[in-house]
Amino acid sequence: MSAQKAAGPVDSREADPADYETDVLVIGYGCAGAAAALEARALGAEVILLERAGGGGGSSAHSGGEIYLGGGTPIQQACGFTDTAGDMEAYLLAALGPNADAEKIRLYCEGSLEHYEWLSSRGVPFKPSLWDSPSWVPPTDDGLMWLGENAMPFAALAKPAPRGHRVTSEGYGGKVLMKVLAEAVDEADIPVHTDTYAGQFILDGGTVAGVVATRFGKTVTYRARRGVILATGGFADNAEMVALHAPRLTGLGVTSDGGDDGHGIRMAQALGAGTARMSSAQVGITLIPGLVVRGMLVNAVGQRFINEDQYPGLLGQAALFKQDLAVWVILDEKAYEEVPEQERWGVVPHFAAETVEELEQEVGMPEGSLTGSVREYNRHAAAGEDPYFFKNKRWLRPLEPPFAAIDVRRGMTAPESGSAGGGGASVFTLGGLQTGPDGEVLDVSGVPVPGLYAAGRATAGIYGQGYISGTSLGEGTFFGRRAGAAAAAVPGR
Ligand SMILES: Cc1cc2nc3c(=O)[nH]c(=O)nc-3n(C[C@H](O)[C@H](O)[C@H](O)COP(=O)(O)OP(=O)(O)OC[C@H]3O[C@@H](n4cnc5c(N)ncnc54)[C@H](O)[C@@H]3O)c2cc1C
Repeated sequence: MSAQKAAGPVDSREADPADYETDVLVIGYGCAGAAAALEARALGAEVILLERAGGGGGSSAHSGGEIYLGGGTPIQQACGFTDTAGDMEAYLLAALGPNADAEKIRLYCEGSLEHYEWLSSRGVPFKPSLWDSPSWVPPTDDGLMWLGENAMPFAALAKPAPRGHRVTSEGYGGKVLMKVLAEAVDEADIPVHTDTYAGQFILDGGTVAGVVATRFGKTVTYRARRGVILATGGFADNAEMVALHAPRLTGLGVTSDGGDDGHGIRMAQALGAGTARMSSAQVGITLIPGLVVRGMLVNAVGQRFINEDQYPGLLGQAALFKQDLAVWVILDEKAYEEVPEQERWGVVPHFAAETVEELEQEVGMPEGSLTGSVREYNRHAAAGEDPYFFKNKRWLRPLEPPFAAIDVRRGMTAPESGSAGGGGASVFTLGGLQTGPDGEVLDVSGVPVPGLYAAGRATAGIYGQGYISGTSLGEGTFFGRRAGAAAAAVPGR
């Protein structure tokens, strides 16, 4: 028996008279909702923002604040990089695939410079300096970072350029991003109704015309003359939805503000909206990118399965979906010591030994398995080569005794987001509502549901299977803006 809240619509003839009326109603005040509200307001629409929490922010405010932008932004140029929308597009198509949304990726890349300007002119700060080592969130306030663009196989598909634009902040940058967007929302005089949970759509002859919400136990009814935009985030916190749609994520840690309950997605599903990529996820594997890139990532039988310099979320996906997260980081003392303590987030080796044979035995791998892998790795690394997975030679050197192993499933504690990664990873969902390029929610036949738009992690966005950091805040705000503009352009009813 399902314990899910009722999500079906209410017919407008049966709904209470409206407590509030507006042109565009935006549900959810994270980055996607803020961007949608700002754009709709800028085009002259009356807007109300609904938020279930006591204030705006959502997961966006908890995030690292990396935003995926490129095509030759001022920050890239200041750091000495040239870039094109075409190279950005080729990278994202490959790294977010297979079956990433090609049309949306093209729009996102072609619009990236303008989107940078939009963010920057609202006051989102980016510092023109490069952090040049794999990391989840760099310990400095450098404003630009690589997100796997210079790793194979991608480096051969598109000219690499770093595109991770980090909002300048002490620690994680999401709070600064949302503070700036919230200031813009205030300046635009957009009413924000907090502590208000949207529960059901109001349908007027097949068109979404508002929502029935609850505030402190009381029903509040909203009518929208032009459109309703869902920006309610993903469903990683809803165990039942995860079990139904993304069972492999069950039991793992969740990367969210705790409120990704998927109810917005279910409200739209109840109208016949299609969903896509529901099992795709960002897999924040609990390893330190700076450590693994200097060593080896191996499975339960001591074999490498990926080049360790790829964006760590792709290491996570490969480890979860192909190795069941039974993976170890193998490194030597030099590799460990090369990574400054503040970047190690408290991670220490779980096993250490003078020889690889002893380490293999301690970890419980088959005799000769890890020994063979290290021998092969070292033989080729001595020549600056990795003929198995083509790790960049910057990170290649033979590993020397003493050796150590880190059991990834033991987890780690990420600063600001607390303990992360039950069982070896912390995840958020990438799947969600099927939308067109202007955020129009599509039904199972691909036809827009009249009056309904969506953006951010409530949608399947630009993704196929893969994920690259910065794309969630990036595409959430980019397509949030498009949804806001599209809803504002609808003739009022
Ligand atoms: C620790 C951490 C680090 C991260 N780092 C990055 C990063 O560096 N770069 C990146 O791109 N992504 C990052 N992410 C992921 C990213 O933050 C999210 O995927 C993104 O913020 C989602 O934006 P959103 O606007 O769709 O949802 P949210 O920001 O979650 O906003 C949704 C809002 O809707 C509200 N809401 C939900 N349901 C209802 C309802 N029924 N009625 C009313 N309100 C409702 C919620 O309370 C919430 O405020 C990170 C996430 C975390 C937690």
